[in-house]
Amino acid sequence: LPKEFEEARPIMQTIEAAGFEAYFVGGSVRDTLLHKEIHDVDIATSAYPEEVKALFHKTVDTGIEHGTVMILDHGIGYETTTFRTESTYQDYRRPDSVTFVRSLKEDLKRRDFTINALAMRENGEIIDLFAGLDDLNNGIIKAVGNPEERFNEDALRMMRAVRFASQLNFKIEVETEKAITNHAELLEKIAVERIQVEFIKMLLGQEPAVGLVSFVETGLFQYCPDFKDAQSALESMIKIADLRLPNEATAWGLICHLLNFSSPQTSQFLKNWKTSNQMIESVLKTTKALNAILENRVDNWMLYQTGRTELINAINLAQQLFAATDEAGLLTQYDNLQIKSKKELALTGKDLMTAGVKPGPQMGQILAEVERKVVENELTNSNDVLTEYVRNRK
Ligand code: ATP
Ligand code: MG
Repeated sequence: LPKEFEEARPIMQTIEAAGFEAYFVGGSVRDTLLHKEIHDVDIATSAYPEEVKALFHKTVDTGIEHGTVMILDHGIGYETTTFRTESTYQDYRRPDSVTFVRSLKEDLKRRDFTINALAMRENGEIIDLFAGLDDLNNGIIKAVGNPEERFNEDALRMMRAVRFASQLNFKIEVETEKAITNHAELLEKIAVERIQVEFIKMLLGQEPAVGLVSFVETGLFQYCPDFKDAQSALESMIKIADLRLPNEATAWGLICHLLNFSSPQTSQFLKNWKTSNQMIESVLKTTKALNAILENRVDNWMLYQTGRTELINAINLAQQLFAATDEAGLLTQYDNLQIKSKKELALTGKDLMTAGVKPGPQMGQILAEVERKVVENELTNSNDVLTEYVRNRK
């Protein structure tokens, strides 16, 4: 067993010694069986939250109303959730209430896909009540129970299906995929922030095109922000051979490029998808640099405004779009810039005053002029050269 499980065994044993059941559940079990790396392990137990808390010295109520208590042990936190059912769903999203139960089967039954409904005992034994192992071995994403009902209960699961298809390079089972097609419009009931999380995980997965094909074919895309007319852009994306997206800004950058968006359109689109302002900045830099590369008009000033991170994003995209791109040349040109930011300019406002410039808007103008000339190598970034330049200008 991976060390994450080994380290958690004493916790499981403590719970079981008190007469309760405890299992590893969720993504960590699935990913271990797929020989993938795992991040954190989740535990499901028949013990009620108060019973869990009574067994351990240090616990945190991370989601006690849903039955989740974090057990702190040798510096690691273990999310431990009481077996529960999610009874009545009326608004196509979160359950109205959760009911704690003592039965593992009830808990596994409420989970989204069979591959996510496996449980593992502390000793590594797998409990497979919904044929999840077969689906795992055959690379299939299949709803637990009746897919129509499951997507009616919680429409986010439809996005999770395409996300896992991409992350695992799995196929969505026929009835499950049909149910997504039938219920796609329910996605409108889900908060954009939550859709975005799954959408980005899909794009950053190992086979984004696999997830995207289902995302388009089921019609899910139509119920995402600003995607009504995006079908052909998404299809172009699917056609990119060996599409791999290393980070979020690159993923958004590609989409906005394929949608032919201007900078203002890109900003508005990302706002509608509820991304952070920092992400919007990063995507704008990426797409501007991408256009410059594709149109063969890269210069020092553009590189300087872009910055290294977004330059790498843009180079990556240019390559995926099959544009001949001199990656090393561009990075060297960037690295050879005399300054990478205004802070590195060897001239300050104080220097300007000493040189006789009066405080006011003129100061900023001169600094901006000097900054640009240094970036374009018309001036050397040394205090002597720059103060000399300021004294002699006009
Ligand atoms: P990841 O590796 O991305 O964390 P995960 O499978 O662990 O994948 P989580 O969102 O962390 O996904 O959820 C943990 C588990 O909770 C899932 O494996 C699944 O069993 C269950 N689950 C999560 N979201 C839902 C949902 N919307 N409907 C039903 N079950 C869900
Ligand atoms: Mg998880």
